[in-house]
Amino acid sequence: MTTATPVKTEYEAIIGLETHCQLNTTSKIFCHCSTEFDSPPNTNVCPICLGYPGVLPVLNEQVLASAVKLGLALNAKIASYSKFDRKQYFYPDLPKNYQISQFDLPIVEHGSLEIELVDKKTKEVTRKTIGITRLHMEEDAGKLVHAGSDRLAGSTHSLVDFNRTGVPLLEIVSEPDIRTGQEAAEYAQELRRLVRYLGVSDGNMQEGSLRCDVNISVRPVGQKEFGTKVEIKNMNSFSAIQKAIEYEIERQIEAVENGDPIYQETRLWDESSQETFSMRKKEGSSDYRYFPEPDLPPLEVSEKRLNAWKQELPELPAQKRKRYEEELGLSAYDARVLTDDRDVAEYYETAVKKGADAKLVANWVTQDIAAYLNNSKLSITEIALKPDSLGELVQLIEKGTISGKIAKEILPELLEKGGSPKQIVESKGMTQISDPGEIEKVIKALMEANPSEVEKYRGGKKKLKGFFVGQVMKETGGRADPKLTNQLAEKLLNG
Ligand SMILES: [Zn+2]
Repeated sequence: MTTATPVKTEYEAIIGLETHCQLNTTSKIFCHCSTEFDSPPNTNVCPICLGYPGVLPVLNEQVLASAVKLGLALNAKIASYSKFDRKQYFYPDLPKNYQISQFDLPIVEHGSLEIELVDKKTKEVTRKTIGITRLHMEEDAGKLVHAGSDRLAGSTHSLVDFNRTGVPLLEIVSEPDIRTGQEAAEYAQELRRLVRYLGVSDGNMQEGSLRCDVNISVRPVGQKEFGTKVEIKNMNSFSAIQKAIEYEIERQIEAVENGDPIYQETRLWDESSQETFSMRKKEGSSDYRYFPEPDLPPLEVSEKRLNAWKQELPELPAQKRKRYEEELGLSAYDARVLTDDRDVAEYYETAVKKGADAKLVANWVTQDIAAYLNNSKLSITEIALKPDSLGELVQLIEKGTISGKIAKEILPELLEKGGSPKQIVESKGMTQISDPGEIEKVIKALMEANPSEVEKYRGGKKKLKGFFVGQVMKETGGRADPKLTNQLAEKLLNG
């Protein structure tokens, strides 16, 4: 037996993502059938999506609008002229035996997406730009349901549901600019933020609205040629994308080091064993015999239409993050947390517009309110505390009407029942005591009741000031201004 000589080689992974995003149009891409997610099998079908002979597909204009808007959000070039093509292959869930897709003239090319990488410990944010090769429109295939149970084969027969056939998809292909599992997971998350901000898809990974396939190879740093590319499928969460890539990088490096072959193949991620396993080897590249779809006219996007779509774009996540940092003075990390969800960002901005301090409002939203949303499983638009009221609450603290402690005390009621913080504070007599005379009176009474503590303090046990301050808080139900109480206790105790 020979032992491998240890060679210290540094490797890098070359990763690209192909993402399929299901659009949230109410009808399919080339017919009027509904796209309703949970309908009974084969109820959302018609001769067009079932591929009967003699029928004509007609493009759903909403699909084109969504593709162009996402293309614009990806800083990409929108083709003024593009077309649809037939991608031919046989599969039981594909009734026409071809899929209408776009081949050599996609609607979108040459874009980019900026991602953010967060250091978990320091919360420091670094940015990186990932190139976007292309984005095109296509129709989804149906769904096979494997049924019956057989001890050896698993299932006895397969059923096909054509409800999903013809549901509109956008396929987004990245450049191989990604190097780590974290970068890939971030890329997918930022893409999801974009489609949600644009309102073109729910981006839900569990329900398959966002499906990512990863292409990955490794090579020694400095080598120009790429290693053998492996495809990974079947990841339905961002953490699964990250973990599958991290596993695959190690597996491939180990194979290279041991002189084992790496096959060009499709592997699946298995969540339970946290490993990838081989599904099928690829024999050469598949020949789909693409040709232009004769039943659909080429697409022409005029300057006028393009400008109209541009006008409809909302402020996008990256633009918001930049504005929060530059105009509101937030940290990159806070800006990121607040803009992750468009509803949260809008809630935050409404509260700040009320005149409250941007940083203080950010703290409330990212801490107490975020914790409540997490525990109650509610979204920010569903809670009783309206953004205006949060702005009011923060201003009450800023003006010294209530302490931060009192604000935290009334928060649960505001979150559950809503209402005006100002009225709640007034009706419960919770306003902060900032009148020096009133606080002095309490301190003096306490000093009279505790003469030996006063004596000890004056004898040098300065720590006893804390005892008096604590007693004042107790007497006033936490309403005394803490800073003022401290100053006055010191003054009176020193005689
Ligand atoms: Zn149909």
